[in-house]
Amino acid sequence: MKRRVGGLETEFGLLAVSKDGRQALEPEAAARELFRPVVAWGRSSNVFLTNAGRLYLDVGSHPEYATAECDDPWEIVAQERAGERELHALVQEANARLSSDGSDARIHLFKNNADSQGNSFGSHENYLIERRGEFTRLPSLLLPFLITRQIVTGAGGVLEGEGGPVFGFSLRADHMWETVSSATTRARPIINTRDEPHGDPSRFRRLHVISGDSTMSEVSTWLRFAMTFAVLRFIEDGHAFPDFELADPISDIRRIARDLTASEPLQLKNGGVSTALSIQRAYFSALARTYDDLDERMMDTWDRGLRALETGDFSLVNRELDWAIKHDLFTTVARRRGLALDAPEIQRLELAYHDIDPEHGVFYALKRRGLAPSVVSEERVENARHTGPSTTRAHLRSKVLKAARDRGVDIAVDWTTVRSNAPGALPITLLDPFETENPQIEALLVTLDENSSAPAELKGLQ
Ligand code: ATP
Ligand code: MG
Ligand code: MG
Repeated sequence: MKRRVGGLETEFGLLAVSKDGRQALEPEAAARELFRPVVAWGRSSNVFLTNAGRLYLDVGSHPEYATAECDDPWEIVAQERAGERELHALVQEANARLSSDGSDARIHLFKNNADSQGNSFGSHENYLIERRGEFTRLPSLLLPFLITRQIVTGAGGVLEGEGGPVFGFSLRADHMWETVSSATTRARPIINTRDEPHGDPSRFRRLHVISGDSTMSEVSTWLRFAMTFAVLRFIEDGHAFPDFELADPISDIRRIARDLTASEPLQLKNGGVSTALSIQRAYFSALARTYDDLDERMMDTWDRGLRALETGDFSLVNRELDWAIKHDLFTTVARRRGLALDAPEIQRLELAYHDIDPEHGVFYALKRRGLAPSVVSEERVENARHTGPSTTRAHLRSKVLKAARDRGVDIAVDWTTVRSNAPGALPITLLDPFETENPQIEALLVTLDENSSAPAELKGLQ
């Protein structure tokens, strides 16, 4: 099977509250406090970590973490969790400093999607695609998939329905305003077409998908990438899915988000009518008919996700997929305590579900009780905090950054370049995301060894 590179960018919500629950620090001040150690070692709030991922403070004081380039959806999950842990470590350090300064402010970070003030926190997927030809037909084949995918991979949550609050598939839907455009902030398209391939522009494009939810469940995050990898493969192989182009995609993405049956009729551009469930079924079946080497777990989980909706038996996925885990939790709590779905207690639960604190976050509590999946081991996640994916160029970036960090040397990197500040050193360009060996990088590693700040007697031994 052809390999494909993907990466996930996650924006985190930030709150600094005092003991009585009031906001204790402005977001800017809290973000500055959080990033203090990063700025101390990286001299910037925009750095690459030794796992080859990127950590930075975005406009509006959102901490953001972008995983390194991965060619396997489980590796994306591991790298993404590693970023969560990295940020959690910063939270702990910041809270310890605040406490020793006599402040009762405590910082919390949330891998959430939207807050009650109308802010949204992005979860941007990046997919390497071929440059040649396909991009023009990509949106019509991909959009119906992306718009309906939330019924399987959405994070779930409470939305405003016509007759009051409803539990739905995705809070992101209400923040999508266009299908395809080159803007990420103002217009918020489902597919962003800004042409920054982070690779050889004559061979590659980077597809930027903005409509996905940040998910706490490893299975949901993995499935989102695994399904999309398979759909992109199908399109790049020249196959066509049935024509499901939606007549009114932006209003549909919102309607689908609110329809837990996933079977409300959707008007198609070609005059036909379909439903979110049948569109997903059709994509699933087209893939199953075409390929016999698809990941079995992916097909099984996707199938069960659809069957749960076809039969109304959510127990088929309620320990795996975020929307269903959250649905169980919210409806149980609301029923037991006689609460409406839009009660402040449920809003707090929504936030607590996405709290990245592995001890106090509600998702992690469910995971400990076996009510949420646990697939990627803590050991793998810990390892991914300082080791880049081994099968992409991230491996090279990670090796160089580790060597540089160990030796106290400055090396500047971005997704495609490695720059040593040694006199006369030329930047090394890595335009092939699949590259894992590079003679210039090996040469740089040798000079790093030679110039290492290790004591002379140790150098002699090397
Ligand atoms: P910004 O978010 O600052 O507007 P950006 O969209 O370039 O910029 P980054 O936050 O730097 O995003 O993250 C880029 C993401 O793209 C990372 O997750 C990275 O792994 C991934 N990526 C890098 N190169 C490629 C590529 N050639 N194809 C697909 N994904 C890539
Ligand atoms: Mg980004
Ligand atoms: Mg981006």
